[in-house]
Amino acid sequence: MVIGNFGKCGVGDPRESYCRFKIGNGFSTLFWKASWLETFCLKKDFSDLYENSSLFKVAVAGMGGWVNGVWTWGNFGINPLVLAEHNLESEMDSLCVLLEGRGPCNAVGDEAVWRAESDRVFYTVSCYKFYVGCRIPYGPFNKFDGALGLVWKAEVPFKIKAFDWSLLVNRLLTKDLLLHRGITFLVDNFKCVFDGVNPESRNHSFFTCSSVKAVWSVVVMWIGKPYGGVEVDCLRGFMDWLSFCKKKKVKEGKLGVVWLATLWTLWLNRNGVCFQNEVWNMDNTIWSIKFLVWKWAFIGDITHSICSCYDFNKDPLLFISQYQFVCNFSGFFGGDVSPFMM
Ligand SMILES: [Zn+2]
Repeated sequence: MVIGNFGKCGVGDPRESYCRFKIGNGFSTLFWKASWLETFCLKKDFSDLYENSSLFKVAVAGMGGWVNGVWTWGNFGINPLVLAEHNLESEMDSLCVLLEGRGPCNAVGDEAVWRAESDRVFYTVSCYKFYVGCRIPYGPFNKFDGALGLVWKAEVPFKIKAFDWSLLVNRLLTKDLLLHRGITFLVDNFKCVFDGVNPESRNHSFFTCSSVKAVWSVVVMWIGKPYGGVEVDCLRGFMDWLSFCKKKKVKEGKLGVVWLATLWTLWLNRNGVCFQNEVWNMDNTIWSIKFLVWKWAFIGDITHSICSCYDFNKDPLLFISQYQFVCNFSGFFGGDVSPFMM
C-alpha cells in the first residue's frame, strides 16, 4: 500500500493525522508525504527541501541504498547546486541529523498503524468523525435543522426517506443542479415540466410553481390544514407540517407522510414527463398522493391494512391518529360506514 495524494479536500486528510508507518524494507512508504517518523511528515517539516526535490513521489527505500550492510541516504533528489542557490544547506543538515541511524531494516514490509482507534484498526467512521470535526457550519444555527433527523423517523419506505433528505439539502438531480455540474440542455428541456415556462429547480418545481401550488392547496384542504401559501424553506415547511399533524394527534411515525407523499409523487410525475413522455395531469397527481398516503398509513399495522381507500380519504388524519382504535371500536362513524373492513 503506497500512501500519497494527501490533502485534496481542503480540510486536510485523516490519513495524515491518524496514519503512522513502521518502516520495514521501505518500499511502500512515501519518503516525504507519509508519517513514518515521530514528526508529522517530512513534506511539512522540510517544505523547502521538498519543493526542490526531484524525487517527491519516491518511497523511503528509493532515497538511499545499502553500502557494506549499512543503510546510506542519498541526496534526496536535491542537486547540491540548488541547495546552495536557495540557501538550504542548514535545512539539509538538519534532515541528515534527523535521519541518522534511521532507514529501512530489511524486514519483510512496511506496516501501517491507524492511531484513531484504540485497537489500531482502520474504520471508515474514523474518517467521518475527522471530517465532521473539521466542519464549520456556515451562518447561524438553523433552528429547523432538526427536520434532517426527523425525516428518517417517518414510517415510509427507506427510499422515500433518502429522497426527502436529498430534497431538504437540495441535492436532488434537478435540472438547475445538472446544469451547474456541466450538463447542458436545450432551452426547452430546461423548463419545469409542470408549467413548461420557468426553469426547473427544487424550490420552483416542488413549491412555487403555479401548477404545483394548486396541488398543495388541494392536499392541505384534504387534511384540513389552513392554507397559508407554500413555504419555500423546505426545512421550515416540513417542521410546520409536522407541528400541524402533531396538534391533530397524528401518530409519531405518520406525522410527515402526507408531505412526503406529495413531494414523492411530484418527483415521479416529473420523471414520467422527462423520461417517458408522459403528460402531466393534476387530478392524477392528487389521486396518486392520496393513494400513497393510504398505502403508507398502515405500514407496521397490518391488522388494518385492508381499510378501504375510499373511506380513508374522507378523513385521512383520523386514520393515522392516535384515536384510530377508539373510533373503530366505538362505532364513531355510525350507520353502515365503518373505517375498517374487519
Ligand atoms: Zn413550474
